[in-house]
Amino acid sequence: MTDRNGAGADPEHCPGCGRPVDECGGCTRALDPPRFCTRCGRRLTVAVTPGGFRARCRDHGPVAAPPAA
Ligand SMILES: [Zn+2]
Ligand SMILES: [Zn+2]
Repeated sequence: MTDRNGAGADPEHCPGCGRPVDECGGCTRALDPPRFCTRCGRRLTVAVTPGGFRARCRDHGPVAAPPAA
């Protein structure tokens, strides 16, 4: 859903499917690049690089990559 309840705290979204974490606690594995912005749930532009990947939200800009294991 796209409605916002404006409750104050930003809802976090699952990086794997874009749903709120209330609905999905995370369906990606550690090595998977995020596909959705965790802040707005919008689909990310993901560019795979030799060293990993870079993900970018159209609204929020570059998304921090998880620390390399
Ligand atoms: Zn998910
Ligand atoms: Zn975003």
